[in-house]
Amino acid sequence: MKDQLRQLPKMDDLLADEAIQKWQETFTKDLIKAVCNQVLDSLRQAILDGQSPSLSLDRVISLVDEELTDRASLSFDRVVNATGTVLHTNLGRAILSKPSLESLKAKAEGYSNLEYNLQAGQRGSRYSHVEDLLCELTGAEAALVVNNNAAGVLLLLTALLANQEVLVSRGQLVEIGGSFRIPDIISSVGARLKEVGATNKTHLKDYEAAIGEETGAILKVHTSNYRVIGFSEAPSDQALVDLAHRKQLPIFNDLGSGLLLDLQALGLPYEPTVQESIQAGYDVVTFSGDKLLGGPQAGILLGKTKYIEQLKNHPLLRALRVDKFTIAALEMTLQAYRKPQQAFETIPSLQLLSQGPDQLHAKAEALKDKIEGLNGPYTVDLVPGQSQVGGGAYPEARLATSLVEISHQTMTESQLERALRLSQDHIIARIADGKVQVDVRTLLEGDLDRIVRVLSQIS
Ligand SMILES: *Cc1c(COP(=O)(O)O)cnc(C)c1O
Repeated sequence: MKDQLRQLPKMDDLLADEAIQKWQETFTKDLIKAVCNQVLDSLRQAILDGQSPSLSLDRVISLVDEELTDRASLSFDRVVNATGTVLHTNLGRAILSKPSLESLKAKAEGYSNLEYNLQAGQRGSRYSHVEDLLCELTGAEAALVVNNNAAGVLLLLTALLANQEVLVSRGQLVEIGGSFRIPDIISSVGARLKEVGATNKTHLKDYEAAIGEETGAILKVHTSNYRVIGFSEAPSDQALVDLAHRKQLPIFNDLGSGLLLDLQALGLPYEPTVQESIQAGYDVVTFSGDKLLGGPQAGILLGKTKYIEQLKNHPLLRALRVDKFTIAALEMTLQAYRKPQQAFETIPSLQLLSQGPDQLHAKAEALKDKIEGLNGPYTVDLVPGQSQVGGGAYPEARLATSLVEISHQTMTESQLERALRLSQDHIIARIADGKVQVDVRTLLEGDLDRIVRVLSQIS
């Protein structure tokens, strides 16, 4: 053991090496020295633990080089989404349209009238840029945009419901993900939750019976990521809104995904659109910018001027405000909705959801041919599969798709999946039936070639 410890390379020899010296273009000498020490320490520990690691100078230099390469590489990187889930929260949800990207770039490169009213030559409001457009598209009286929908719900409850009692159906006391739970958020702002009805069934008369002296509002929450099926019931939007207003209570609706277009033509089940919710008379509705809307991360609040004004004047808004990039991308995303046809043509999420069986099959065939053209150690098969919408929207819906199943002569499926994931293009694929599966629905322009390039490097 002592012999082994004595064989560890000297710090000076490591630092004198050419491969290590070239890192001085990127890192300070102190950092490089610290990394050398870290590598030497872990080898020393391995020896003390009774192992016999290779201690040649070349081997230790390559360990230091690997660690420095790792530190220099991007943590936040582009990936290829081969999962078929269009709004994949872990992979960044909606991708932006070309016009959104151009607008975002222009505002990033140069100055903008973010809070400057060009007409008046005076200070303006960042919120003004998308308000009229949101009202035009949805029929709402007023609008406000914040950091995300969780922030929207938080602002709504804080500004309008603090110290009041709020009625929520027991079937809607959901966790949205990342421990954003409706009951917790209600108590965190000092409001009091009054549960109504049962988990599977809540009738209008349950709401009616629950309304008391203390009641400040009714909150409806879209049960985005789960569904009560079978013996279940809830009152219609119209009936619930009418009840609230008859009792002179405001009523709010957290719509979750927020749909501006009917997507039943794509084979998805009926969901009320934002316009329908406004039409039904909800006083404020909230939804996300980066779910089915297909824009940047944002929380959109729409509704009656009386309430939106209170939100605009609340001090919490300053902490939840959107940045200029969000406004730039959101404005362009919303503009596409002026004509439904244009929305389907320019918004990537809608395009990905709209792909039909023939189009997907052709894309899968093209990928299969390219992989087979490598003459590498791969076996490729096409099988039918199902894609998901994701983003907590349409939890049950499945869209028919084509899967490309890839297996490698010598690597196991998990070795191949890992190699794809850790490659320079970070291809995120799934494993099923002992094979790596690529769902072509979420592959974008250039992704087929990226996959083929990575596969050629692996073999
Ligand atoms: C997704 C979702 C949220 C959270 O929205 P973010 O934009 O992710 O903050 C809140 N409520 C519902 C019903 C949702 O589906």
